[in-house]
Amino acid sequence: MVSETTEDGATMYECEECGMLFEAREEARTHEENCDGEGPSYIQ
Ligand SMILES: [Zn+2]
Repeated sequence: MVSETTEDGATMYECEECGMLFEAREEARTHEENCDGEGPSYIQ
């Protein structure tokens, strides 16, 4: 999943799998599709 967050007043998009931040939603979505999902919140 990609979640929206605010950093210093700017909207950022975060990959919930690894926590990486992107300025563009499409960038985050593209990353998320290829993300290994080995972040600490990935429990399944
Ligand atoms: Zn990721």
